[in-house]
Order: sequence, then structure tokens, then C-alpha cells
Amino acid sequence: MCFDAKPYFVSSFNKLLAAQPKYNSRINLKWMDTKLSADTASCIKDSADAICTFVEDKIDAAVVKELQRAQVEMVAVRAAGYDNIDVSSCDAAGITICRVPTYSPSSVAEHAVALFMTLNRKIHHAYNRVRDQNFALHGLVGMNIKGKTVGVIGTGSIGSEFCRIMLGFGCRILCYDVVKNEALAGVKGITYAALDEVLSQADIISLHVPLLPSTRHIINAANINRMKRGAYLINTSRGALVESKALIDGLKSGHIAGACLDVYELERGLFFEDLSEELIPDDNILRLIGMPNVLITAHQAFLTHEALEAIATTTFNNILDVFDNNHRMSTAQNSINKVGPVQVRSKL
Ligand code: NAD
Repeated sequence: MCFDAKPYFVSSFNKLLAAQPKYNSRINLKWMDTKLSADTASCIKDSADAICTFVEDKIDAAVVKELQRAQVEMVAVRAAGYDNIDVSSCDAAGITICRVPTYSPSSVAEHAVALFMTLNRKIHHAYNRVRDQNFALHGLVGMNIKGKTVGVIGTGSIGSEFCRIMLGFGCRILCYDVVKNEALAGVKGITYAALDEVLSQADIISLHVPLLPSTRHIINAANINRMKRGAYLINTSRGALVESKALIDGLKSGHIAGACLDVYELERGLFFEDLSEELIPDDNILRLIGMPNVLITAHQAFLTHEALEAIATTTFNNILDVFDNNHRMSTAQNSINKVGPVQVRSKL
């Protein structure tokens, strides 16, 4: 059972399934429009061996109980992040979780750059002006990216791809990570530094860490004050890395020159949905949407053909891998993309 069916996922998964006997001989997909939560979990029927979820599905302890009742053996997450899943409850229940740790780092890194290029050169404003036959240029001044210092927080798959793109623009790259990426550390133009140094020196800061207790609100009022006045912030990682109210205050005071956001800490129930006829009760997102120096996309950084195909391929391989190796009965350590107390990184 695949929850939170969206046309782009349904078509990429169904296309791959139809094309590959190794998958369609073994896997049947049942797509559900509903998101998985404690309120909806009772719809899981005993016939489902695995459920397939996305970032808006919430798998808490109550849902895990329902999964146990229905004898579901596996949660196949069709995303990299799994902060929406109670991993220890799943583990205690013997339910294997697999994710897609790396599907297309370029898709997210390129989107981060696209957001910044659009905001900086005010392409979105220019596009609207020209459609109104307003060809004036006042208010559209941007800055050169060449020569600027770019702070990259988190230098795993996506962060390192972002570093390489920005290096190509002629930027100086300052990185912060708890684990140095050795492939980047020796590259001319890329330096590792302490978080404070990255914050205080960067003209543009891009976040590429996962959401963990140690990274929640890593961009808060204190760290915004440490940022260079006039710096830009890009967040394509997870919304709760940024304390929204502190960001709004930083933007209002001019300390932050602009923000590019593909994620938002209270995006659940907003992003991925057409709410054009609704009144949104969240004042912070409305304030951010209304600011001319904020550009928001609704968690679409992953959305390329290549990424969707890679997500479907890895998800199907994860499912076959788990059931072929009877992981529920074993220690589940062999599954390459398993999430759990011992996390095994992807070999893709
Ligand atoms: P990754 O695991 O390859 O890299 C994450 C890096 O963060 C690692 O190098 C890790 O050492 C570092 N890190 C972890 N905790 C840290 C801390 N406390 N301080 C500093 N660094 C820390 O992950 P990735 O594939 O690069 O993805 C990064 C994040 O991007 C994902 O966790 C996910 O939340 C997000 N993402 C967003 C989208 C989207 O569509 N917007 C798509 C995919 C992934």
C-alpha cells in the first residue's frame, strides 16, 4: 500500500513496474490518496506486506501498533529523510524501514541554486512585470555571485554537489559538518571551518544537514545574529532547521537580505496540496510568502524525472531485498538502505 498518492509518483512507479518483469512479477502496488497517520492507519489491510510512505506520512507509535495488527513487515520510505518515523517503535515491533538515501543529489543542489539565482536576480519579479508590459528595471538590482563566500552546512551527498556547483561560479566555499567529507576537503576553494566562522563570513548560507535533535533550529535568533549582515539563506533540507519567527525577524531587520525556502517547519498539511481556496491559519508562512525578498517552493527540490526514476528503482530494490533476505526474522543488517539503530548507508 502506497500512501499519499501523487500523480508524479504514481506515474514513475507504475512506469518502472510495467517495464521490468523482475519487479512486476513480485510487486503489486495499491495507491491510496490518504496520508498515513494515527487517524488513517486502520485502512491498512492484512494483505499488505509493506507500506510505502512519503514525507507527509506520520508513522508514530500508534501507527506502528496498527502496522503490527495488519502484520506489515516493512516501511518502504520513498524519500531520504525519515524524521517523520518513530524508528525505535518500528524496530521494537520488528518492522524494517528502508529509505532512498541518495537518489539524485543534483536535483536538490540544482534547485537550491535555481532558487538563489531567481531570488538574487529577481527573475520572478521580472517575469511578472514583463507579462504586465512593465519593462522598467528599477528594483531589480542583484549581485554578482562570482567572488562571494558561500557557507555550506552539511557536506554529504547534496551539500557536496552544491559546493561543486558554487565553486563553478567562482565562489569561495566554507563548509561546516560534524564529519569532514574527504573528497571535498582537498579541493582548491573549499575550506572546512567552525559553524560560527561559516555563519559570520558567508554571503550565502545553504543548509544540507538532516533534521536531528542536534540540527533542529540550527538557524535560530542567536545564529542569525552571528551571520554577516546582508547574507542570504537557502534551505532545501528540512523546515525545522530554521526557526521561522527568528527568520522573519532577521528578514524584517534587514540582517538577512533574503531567504530561499523549499521546506518550512510547519509545512505538513500545506505543502503538496492545492489550498488556493482556503484561508491558511499559519501567520508565519503568510508573512514569509508576502515578503518580496523570500522565495518559497513547496518541497519540490527532488522533483526531476531522473530523481523520480531513481526513487522508484531503489524503493523496489529495497522491497525485494528485504523480503528476499527475510529481514524481519534476521537482524536486517544486510539491507543496504535500512534505517534503524544501526544505519547502513546506501551503496548506490
Ligand atoms: P547526507 O546524509 O548525505 O548528508 C548530511 C550531512 O549532514 C552529513 O555529511 C552529516 O555528517 C551532516 N550532519 C549531520 N548532523 C550534523 C550536525 N549536527 N551538524 C553538522 N553536520 C551534520 O544527506 P543528503 O542526501 O545530503 O541530504 C541532506 C538532507 O536533504 C536530507 O536529510 C533531507 O532532509 C534533505 N532533502 C530534501 C529534499 C527536498 O526535496 N527538499 C530532497 C532530498 C533530501
